[in-house]
Amino acid sequence: MNEHTWTPPIWDPDDLDPRDWDWLRRWGAQAATDIAGHLQALANGPAWRPMPAEVSGRFTRALSWNGTGIETAYREVLRDVAPYVLGNTHGRSWGWVHGSGVPVGVLAEFLTAGLNANCTGHHHSPAFVELEALGWLKQMLDYPNEASGILVSGASIANLIGLAVARNARAGWDVRKLGLAGGPRLIMYASVEVHSCIQKAVEALGLGTDALVRIPADGEYRLDIGALAERIAQDKAVGHRPIAVVATAGTVNTGAIDPLDEIADLCAAEGLWMHIDGAFGALAWLDQRQRPALAGLQRADSLALDCHKWLYLPYGVGCVFVRDAQAHEAAFAVAPAYLSATREGLPGGPFSFPDYGLELSRPFRALKLWLALRCHGLKPFAEAVARNIDQAAYLARSIGVRQELELAAPVPLNVVCFRYRRAGLSEAALDALNAKILKTLQDSGKATPSMTKLEGKFLIRAAITNHRASFEDCDILVNAVVGLGDDLAGEFEAA
Ligand SMILES: *Cc1c(COP(=O)(O)O)cnc(C)c1O
Repeated sequence: MNEHTWTPPIWDPDDLDPRDWDWLRRWGAQAATDIAGHLQALANGPAWRPMPAEVSGRFTRALSWNGTGIETAYREVLRDVAPYVLGNTHGRSWGWVHGSGVPVGVLAEFLTAGLNANCTGHHHSPAFVELEALGWLKQMLDYPNEASGILVSGASIANLIGLAVARNARAGWDVRKLGLAGGPRLIMYASVEVHSCIQKAVEALGLGTDALVRIPADGEYRLDIGALAERIAQDKAVGHRPIAVVATAGTVNTGAIDPLDEIADLCAAEGLWMHIDGAFGALAWLDQRQRPALAGLQRADSLALDCHKWLYLPYGVGCVFVRDAQAHEAAFAVAPAYLSATREGLPGGPFSFPDYGLELSRPFRALKLWLALRCHGLKPFAEAVARNIDQAAYLARSIGVRQELELAAPVPLNVVCFRYRRAGLSEAALDALNAKILKTLQDSGKATPSMTKLEGKFLIRAAITNHRASFEDCDILVNAVVGLGDDLAGEFEAA
């Protein structure tokens, strides 16, 4: 980013509003210039820059009574913050499951902050924007239109809300009133590959970690439906109450999609709630080729997904849909006198979002989703998702033809797990070598995959939910890993 050169007009840090609104015009333009420069420079810069201790050491200042003024504070953002972010906006940032962020989202965030709407619902334009955007998400996923939905900070919270509704709807007693004391032990099921946020949700719901039963996965890391059916029968036999199955559409380790249709059949037969964690994988529905593997997605009683991953929106916006809108409302609605809705005037209107989730005051998350879809239409998003899947397949093929590399898992979507190998090295030495390759690669900024372990092996893991990724970027990653492996393997030969 370039340092600005402009000096503010009549303005003083003591004024919370500027005396002259040109202040906001000029600094808004400056911020737009700087962030455009930042994004433009990504292609020729590193995917990540480690933060020097000298810079991180600056973040220990005491709060001061008097402000520095915008010039100084703004310059500090450009100097100490902007260069050292995680780097997920970069085309070769493929760690964990990160989103790259479309520029129209930058505009939306600026407008959102300016409007500063508190999206409780009622008769404000943001409620209509959110409801329309939720409708578009349902259309995009062919999820039933009657379903209720709400935007939340991300899939972790979306999953929590879906599972709270599941617990209340299927416990068989009034959980809101009686808590968990009303009956037998409630059990939820998920595969061993389920995301860690599901455990947190089950714990926060008071069920306890042991109430989340981890079902083995098959050779392709998908929930083993036979093992699930067996375990449900066992739990019933000892007097527990199975209530829900959490299926994953797109596991974080390998992108595996659980057998959704079979799970839906089993849930229907057993009277269980089917929740799907589709944080990123649900969006693969946009790629026609993935629809057979995702069949059953629309049968979920509740569905969680992220818009800040495979819809490439700025953080943080996720969504949960609940097929039975009444069950959804029954889990959260409360009507204290100071909030009770009249259907007229300011608190009137179409919908009260706090009745469908945990937040009362809510940011206007919907605007970036709405603006992105309205301005771009669905097409470029659908194409980018399909392209990411093609890039992962290309990356897997490129790994497959390299002697020095080993593909470690099937690649059903956009996640590729692999490692460098060399004959004669022990498993422990291969783990240490690959960990060193990964660290060196990340430090170099050339590409930033992350890691995982499958069957005990340390693996380099690339998850491509990135609209800036290119096929050449895949070549760069493969060549970099082979190059580093060749350079570093010697160190591990004696080990
Ligand atoms: C990212 C992710 C989550 C958590 O979502 P957040 O937006 O980080 O809260 C849950 N499940 C899966 C499969 C994910 O990839």
